[in-house]
Amino acid sequence: MSIRLRFAPSPTGDLHVGGARTALFNWLYARHMGGKFLLRIEDTDRERSTEAAVQAIFDGLKWLGLDWDEEPLFQHTRQEAHCAAVARLLETGHAYRCYCTAEELEQMRAEQRAHGGKPRYNGRCRHRTDAPDQPFVVRFRTPSEGMVGFDDLIKGRVAVANEELDDLVLQRSDSTPTYNLAVVCDDAEMGITHVIRGDDHVNNTFRQLHLYEALGLKAPQFGHMPLILGEDGAKLSKRHGATSVFEYARLGYLPAAMRNHLARLGWSHGDQEQFTTEELVAAFDIKDVGASPSVFALQKLDSLNGWYLRNGDLDEVTDLFADFLQQEAIPIEVDHDSARLRRIVESQRERTATLKEMAEKSDYFFREEIDLDEKAAHKHLRPVVLAPLRELRDTLAALPAPLTAEGVKPPFEAILERHGLKMGKLAQPVRVALTGGGISPGIYDVIEIIGKERCLTRLDAAIAYVERRAEHP
Ligand code: GLU
Repeated sequence: MSIRLRFAPSPTGDLHVGGARTALFNWLYARHMGGKFLLRIEDTDRERSTEAAVQAIFDGLKWLGLDWDEEPLFQHTRQEAHCAAVARLLETGHAYRCYCTAEELEQMRAEQRAHGGKPRYNGRCRHRTDAPDQPFVVRFRTPSEGMVGFDDLIKGRVAVANEELDDLVLQRSDSTPTYNLAVVCDDAEMGITHVIRGDDHVNNTFRQLHLYEALGLKAPQFGHMPLILGEDGAKLSKRHGATSVFEYARLGYLPAAMRNHLARLGWSHGDQEQFTTEELVAAFDIKDVGASPSVFALQKLDSLNGWYLRNGDLDEVTDLFADFLQQEAIPIEVDHDSARLRRIVESQRERTATLKEMAEKSDYFFREEIDLDEKAAHKHLRPVVLAPLRELRDTLAALPAPLTAEGVKPPFEAILERHGLKMGKLAQPVRVALTGGGISPGIYDVIEIIGKERCLTRLDAAIAYVERRAEHP
């Protein structure tokens, strides 16, 4: 039988790093085993669930390249089945009606606390035989003796004494089902064979195992993934910076790098750091997920991202860069054909870690006009370079458009030779003239990408700047 896994987010916000890793591990394991990866939107909390959050989950998964099989199941559409399961449990005596009011429950907890005990439901309505006309919740009759346990795919054997678990509410007084009941019904309905989720659900799993048994359903296998920590060792949160997948997209990270980074949070495969998606799918096994928490280190993500920028397919990276520019509405004052954008990516990808940095550092390629960095101009645009700068301007003007890096190189070198200059002595002033600052890709590439007309305008402006300096030293 082929395996079936699912990702079951509650649509109450963006897709976060933790949820994205859960989705990824389920997806990787399903794909590795040739099974199915399903999606269930846990939207029974109608007040907190929003359309926008559902869309954010879909978009986040798509951005990460995690495709799902079959139609997503919206949990709120299953209320009838959930209620039927509760009715069955009442019939078989596995559940009972509890009429305790909120005040009574509070008083119960206060007494327990006063006696140094753990606040919990004391089973007061367990043996009630009357059926007063009052609001009630339905509680599960947890076995009072024995243990409940399972072999976790990640943590190994885990078990708890039943007396540690109190009688959980299955259905609220307004008839809505609670999380544990709904999850068991729906995982069974969807034929889920493996549930891989966060560590924080271990206690729910004990309760869910009881429910599977009481409902006569076969329980899936479970694997609970350890926490993701920030670099200070505390649970990853807003405080550590970006937490939603979209924030990372907006910061200019590539989906492949994010996928690779998330995969390495708790899973390893020898010493290998970089994986193509195919390699991840081929190598991923849930058995290799570690039981200790992993740290989300931004530096690692940066270095992976840089690697993907440098080594990714140039056309693909260019497309992602174009999407990024559009998404961020980066003002590009010129029409750029994709060939030009491709050249920009080619020249910048060795020197940038993110698409955002690439965009920021490519400003001078996109804008009609540039500002000269005062310090760089002062240092490099000095009267001594006036003659070679003028010569370069006239040489470029005489070359046919479009200028190319190879075409510009020989006349540029000839000017160096005539003036007895080393490369940097002319390249740096030209760089400042064309880009406004002292850092850019190779000067021939810069000339080609900026294009003849703009190179001439910018050189003219730089020459005028040097002339002013020569006149008023
Ligand atoms: N909606 C639950 C959550 O987001 C799902 C937990 C589960 O996978 O069962 O935590």
